[in-house]
Amino acid sequence: MAPTTETNPTTRPRTLVTGGTRGIGAAVARRLAEAGHDLVLSYRADDEAAARTRAEVEALGAACATVRADVVDPGQVEELFAAAGALTGVVSNAGATLHIGPLADTPVEVVARTVELNLTAALYVARAAVRTMAVSRGGSGGVLVTIGSVAAATGAPGEYVQYAAAKAGVEAMTVGLAHEVAADGVRVVAVAPGIIETTIHADAGEPGRLARVGPTVPLGRAGEPAEVAHAVAWLLSAEASYVTGTTLRVGGGR
Ligand code: NDP
Repeated sequence: MAPTTETNPTTRPRTLVTGGTRGIGAAVARRLAEAGHDLVLSYRADDEAAARTRAEVEALGAACATVRADVVDPGQVEELFAAAGALTGVVSNAGATLHIGPLADTPVEVVARTVELNLTAALYVARAAVRTMAVSRGGSGGVLVTIGSVAAATGAPGEYVQYAAAKAGVEAMTVGLAHEVAADGVRVVAVAPGIIETTIHADAGEPGRLARVGPTVPLGRAGEPAEVAHAVAWLLSAEASYVTGTTLRVGGGR
């Protein structure tokens, strides 16, 4: 079987996007709504952004539920998937750099929180995604797209080595899990964005990071969330039915 969404024209794909209410996740939600997906969008705290993105995707014709759930809490991840019900796709997108600076100057609590959010939580979400979508567990098959980072390849020296290490872990998980569930109707693929125009950089303490780093990218600029969203939507589609266990970089040449 081809474990993909959009294979049956009579049923709409139903996709959960963690952190789907702002930034890249919200762009993914809008793009998937355009492609005919119904959506479950999770977030941590910003109710206003959740309501705004929900209204946007509903205006594009998608049924949409928003669920407040902190992905670092395994109990809340369980509750999120219980609330989501049957799914054909999961985009594990929630994440953050949290801090910018050399590792030796980064507080240990920040190191721990960064790995917890960007790697441990991604493992919780991936585990729940397989339990929901795997054919042997009563699911209909589907696709898990994990959001990594080009930092996994560069190591992000001087900026956030701990984040880069966590995202490298996400790529390892993507390969291993893809092989683990390939015969169970689930594809697992990573998208690794380069520097993208969201508030993640300001939230980590450097509002000028886009202007500083953008011109150093081979394509000469930071990317837009929609440019990542197109890649995610393609990987979720039937057109990517032979793609699993790999990372697609959307990094302007990085
Ligand atoms: P944003 O900060 O713009 O959005 C983050 C989203 O994730 C929000 O919806 C936020 O919810 C949610 N979120 C954050 N923490 C949690 C949590 N603990 N539990 C549940 N949801 C949470 O981030 P980006 O769009 O920039 O980043 C999205 C992904 O892309 C991340 O994994 C990031 O590491 C990755 N990435 C980003 C790059 C960039 O340059 N922007 C580059 C490479 C990778 P709320 O609104 O409630 O806070």
